[in-house]
Amino acid sequence: MNRRLSQRMSVLSPSATVGLGGRIAALRAAGVDVISFGQGEPDFATPDVIKLAGIRAIEQNRTRYTAVGGPAELRAAIAAQLDRETGMPFDATQVSVTVGAKEALFLAFLALCDPGDEVIIPAPYWVSYVDQVRLAGATPVIVPAGPERGYRIDAAQLRAALSPRTRALVLNSPANPTGAVYRAAELRALADVLHGRDVVVVSDEIYDAITYVDYARWLHVAPEFADRTLIVNGASKAFAMTGWRLGYVAGPADLLEAIRAIQGHASTHTSSISQAAALVAYAPDAPLADAVAAMVAAFRERRDRIVTLLRQIDGVAIEPPDGAFYAFPQVAGLLHRPLGPRGVVCTDDDALAEYLLDAARIGVVPGSAFGAPGHLRLSYATSMAQIEEGLARFAAAATR
Ligand code: PMP
Ligand code: GLU
Repeated sequence: MNRRLSQRMSVLSPSATVGLGGRIAALRAAGVDVISFGQGEPDFATPDVIKLAGIRAIEQNRTRYTAVGGPAELRAAIAAQLDRETGMPFDATQVSVTVGAKEALFLAFLALCDPGDEVIIPAPYWVSYVDQVRLAGATPVIVPAGPERGYRIDAAQLRAALSPRTRALVLNSPANPTGAVYRAAELRALADVLHGRDVVVVSDEIYDAITYVDYARWLHVAPEFADRTLIVNGASKAFAMTGWRLGYVAGPADLLEAIRAIQGHASTHTSSISQAAALVAYAPDAPLADAVAAMVAAFRERRDRIVTLLRQIDGVAIEPPDGAFYAFPQVAGLLHRPLGPRGVVCTDDDALAEYLLDAARIGVVPGSAFGAPGHLRLSYATSMAQIEEGLARFAAAATR
């Protein structure tokens, strides 16, 4: 046994999405012209009002520690936004600001789970849920939902996955990597299955601003779950602020107290500058609606284009996703047959993603990383020109 590392390291896989980002950066540094459909982050600039608030915070020397989990003023502003979104009262004690939504999720699993507990994770899932649950000592229970059901689990599947050890259910709508958005009636049916069960719903709503259909919010549909729901969200996607590392977790005060107890020993809080800037983003009268609407309109146009271009490739199938900025085509038709001028045969989606990076110089994430073999994920948070060029490369590498 390797005594240098803890046992828990044996259950950890490196993040495929972050890993691909690193590989693409290294290739570009070496002068290779790679088009990235990899790591998912808006390609837009953070809106000026937020940037200026960050600059002002530095000038005003707001460079010291804040309260654990963020200043009360920011937590109150986020609570007020949650009031508006869910129609139920939130206060500052029920919110903690975190180092991105990623830390919010990790803290949630650490606060909720003991070894032996089970956490239900619908697949396809965002890569980090599974590893975070394992790091917390719990067991992920994967419930697969394929293209035939729009990548959304239903009540019967949830019922079958529940056990006396079920501690939490992860809901992610709009979803990464599929862009699937649950309808209100579907959420209601899931809620009905959870009645009388001591299960906490971890609702990851990080893509809520980016939808192309009506958005149904979990707590709005299932308000009776307020005392056992943790909402995870943040500024990364809605305000194009991935690098600022500004997320939050919100829910019942006792769970938030536990989460802050962990934060007090782990990160204390995210950057004071990011928190000062976020105060502007979460102000009720923030002049951000136009910037967000323009970003979503651009994503919608790109979604339509990338779906059209993907459908033109023989062996690729996709339905237009309803939210987020990912295309998640089925590519089983490209496997086990010679591809491109060199007649390369790929036996799985990992090999196909490698082939596309190598031969077409486009970075995509294999579906296996999200628990959905036979798919690829393409983030279309990139310019239309890159989408056109990248998909032309994909098509050339996929045709003989
Ligand atoms: N949840 C989902 C579904 C995501 O795609 C991401 C990706 N960034 C996160 C959480 C983490 O977001 P953040 O960058 O704010 O940590
Ligand atoms: N959430 C984005 C993605 O899935 C960013 C990378 C990450 O944090 O995993 O690509």
